[in-house]
Amino acid sequence: MNKRLFASIFFAPAALACAAALAQERARWEPEPALVSAPGAAPPSDAIVLFDGANLDQWMRMEDGEPARWEIADGAATVTPGTGTIRTRQSFGSLQLHLEWRPTDVIDGSGQSRGNSGVFLHSQFEVQILDSWENATYVNGQAGSVYLQHPPLVNASRPPGEWQSYDIIFTAPVFEGGELVAPAYLTVFQNGVLVQNQVELQGATHTPEPEYAAQCIPYNLKGEANRRDCTGEMPLVLQDHGQVVSFRNIWLREL
Ligand code: MG
Repeated sequence: MNKRLFASIFFAPAALACAAALAQERARWEPEPALVSAPGAAPPSDAIVLFDGANLDQWMRMEDGEPARWEIADGAATVTPGTGTIRTRQSFGSLQLHLEWRPTDVIDGSGQSRGNSGVFLHSQFEVQILDSWENATYVNGQAGSVYLQHPPLVNASRPPGEWQSYDIIFTAPVFEGGELVAPAYLTVFQNGVLVQNQVELQGATHTPEPEYAAQCIPYNLKGEANRRDCTGEMPLVLQDHGQVVSFRNIWLREL
């Protein structure tokens, strides 16, 4: 009998007892995680559903708070170019977001002029939506990028006309006494593929330079009158960039 086998036979019970004692010492029984069901393709049971195909009642036009004017058909909301960027009525902090999007398969542009939209976390940080299938543009402006800050790790795009998904984990910035004490972070999966891995945001993506401001002007708004307190929860924004992009199955979980 070799030494190792001998040891495993004669000392295994003692080792197991030791491991059990260690587990008992470190094991925690509470708080017990809440029960959340996630049946198939449906949103998890604790999700806030922002669009289920029926209407855009949870949204309003960014510029004037009027009802969203995008077209609803076949369970999808489609940007009617020129009708305006939209935002949620509700505001949110850190969150897990799921949305599905589809650039039109009618190709009449290139680069940034092909299937351009975007989802703005906290009304300020754009995860770019673009038809990046065989469509070259600057890499920190293609689909899956944090606009002008972080290129995606890979190009996980599907051909135009096909539905794609984003699953986003957003950690909101933290301010104390009007000063930034922790920046925002983003993790993004495109079609189940990791494209942003807990990247630190340098600030708003729509300002001339990235910036954090306790009093900020959200995307698509202009002028000092639109400056507001951006230290708490903020609406989610979907961009009308003048191009035809459809959305469906939008939900989030507050973190
Ligand atoms: Mg965009």
